[in-house]
Amino acid sequence: MGTEQHDRPVALVTGSTSGIGEAVARRLAGGGMRVVVHSRHSTDAGEALAAELGGTYVQADLEVEDETRALVRTALDRHGRLDVLVNNAGISWPIPHADLAAATPADWRRLLEVNLIAPWLLCAEALPALREAPGGGSVVNITSHAGVRPKGSSVPYAASKAALNHVTRLLAAALGPDVRVNAVAPGLVDTPMTKDWAEAHQLWRERAPMHRPARPADVADLVASLIASSYLTGEVIVLDGGLNLT
Ligand code: NAD
Repeated sequence: MGTEQHDRPVALVTGSTSGIGEAVARRLAGGGMRVVVHSRHSTDAGEALAAELGGTYVQADLEVEDETRALVRTALDRHGRLDVLVNNAGISWPIPHADLAAATPADWRRLLEVNLIAPWLLCAEALPALREAPGGGSVVNITSHAGVRPKGSSVPYAASKAALNHVTRLLAAALGPDVRVNAVAPGLVDTPMTKDWAEAHQLWRERAPMHRPARPADVADLVASLIASSYLTGEVIVLDGGLNLT
């Protein structure tokens, strides 16, 4: 690997073969970073995107602790440095909030495992490398407006994202000035996860001041801004087209 190539910062974006993660991967690669594309299943899509962006692809199931830890180690083995971690991978499915029996302990464990514990483990594994990043390390967690207000696809999902918002602030306080930690808390984003959520799409078209859900690129632009903003840390930015004002 030539010096010029080695000098480019490296970003690991989890869950980056679709939706928000793919848009973030494209945006960061467009800004000159080497991107590590990751997914759980979509190996072909991951390899193809990594080749297109001049990065590399790593497969890992974030419900499996060993695979989660190995994801960071593989990224470091391949690139020798890690400057940016975007914790984007997440899971969500609708469970009515008032039906307490429907949100089972198994649902809680799975949602917390992928949406909260995996980002924590990835931060822990990446920390030594992030501390050594020449411009300072940066973590961006993709959380949700459901973690800020009592809304969202299910109570356990919202709780997992609220916890990740708080972890964002706690780690920002603990890890500065070497590593900055921020979060983007989107409202509805037009991605595979929400393709069947007709009511939510209608709500955003009718009630949000921006009259539409976010596009993945809207989230990616904000993620890139947070990474570039060298004094910003501990912020959870709600990106919901202004729905919270109504
Ligand atoms: P998506 O389904 O397109 O992407 C989710 C990604 O997470 C996929 O690449 C998937 O492979 C990955 N993933 C899920 N479980 C995994 C596991 N066990 N191991 C490894 N990877 C796993 O959905 P998206 O809408 O792009 O979601 C991205 C993030 O944004 C999620 O954290 C989601 O909670 C959050 N979010 C989405 C919306 C929205 O409206 N789409 C709103 C708020 C927050």
